[in-house]
Amino acid sequence: MDFANLPESITICEVGLRDGLQNEKTLLTTEEKICLVNDMSEAGFKVIEVGSFVSPKAVEQMANTDEVFKGIKKVDGVEYRALIANTKGVDRAINCGCTKVKLNVSASVSHNLANLNRTPAQTVAGFGEAVAKAREANIDISGSISMSFGSPWDKEIPIKNVRDIVEAYLAVGVKEISLSDASGMAYPKQVHAICTEMLGAYPEVNWWLHFHNTRGMGMANIMAGMLSGFTKFDTSFAGAGGCPFVPGAAGNVATEDVVHMCDESGIATGIDLDKTIAISKKIVAILGHSTDSYILRAGKSKDLIRELPTGQIKNQTQVKR
Ligand code: ZN
Repeated sequence: MDFANLPESITICEVGLRDGLQNEKTLLTTEEKICLVNDMSEAGFKVIEVGSFVSPKAVEQMANTDEVFKGIKKVDGVEYRALIANTKGVDRAINCGCTKVKLNVSASVSHNLANLNRTPAQTVAGFGEAVAKAREANIDISGSISMSFGSPWDKEIPIKNVRDIVEAYLAVGVKEISLSDASGMAYPKQVHAICTEMLGAYPEVNWWLHFHNTRGMGMANIMAGMLSGFTKFDTSFAGAGGCPFVPGAAGNVATEDVVHMCDESGIATGIDLDKTIAISKKIVAILGHSTDSYILRAGKSKDLIRELPTGQIKNQTQVKR
């Protein structure tokens, strides 16, 4: 592993409005969400997950996603995407002007069989109709694979299972694929091995990574992903989020923590860190509780550097960065 292999730049998708909020009790108004999306565009995010088109009965927080899409100021070059579950989601995307949707399947065979009575690859094969409908409407479509690195219901997720799902996505024409660690079980060495294998086997895929920071390994996993050649990562404002199916689940790695790490490491994100911090502070104020964000708690490293009060010995080398 050579840190000289770190990418010069990465792309971050802010998924807080979807993944970060879907389990929050405080329901955000359409206006609040529109403001946050516009703030994100302004902060330099090139990809923003605005919400999901799923049943409002299942996820009440996402009920206003259509209205949010209608109200946001769309900036050229910024991709505004939504999570969908089926063709109904494509219909909703068409009706509100959303031009990028994302499907998801769990890599856990037992989870899939229990819920859908199908294997994950069979589930993906069933996405063909949704993909065709999206294509017809000029809507770009991507796919994610949750539990790619481990699941609470399986002893292990064999990499062959993940490859089968990737191939099923490719077979229905989905070439942008996200490997997701919803259960927070991924660890850096595994991430590096899986990402390296996937990149080698499917160079045509536009890869994303999506880590939850449940066991504090999210940042290290992102670094491992970068070292294996992945350059696209989902993160969530203030580290907000969780998952009702996973005990003790935490949110995605906090966006400001990742942007800060990249700024310090000389990896370009195109995102303004101060504006990102302001967005995260705003969301924490709306939610009314603290979240898992190092930078919101401790501030930027650069903010620590200051002149010592006069009268004390000045020795800049002692000021740790
Ligand atoms: Zn997630």
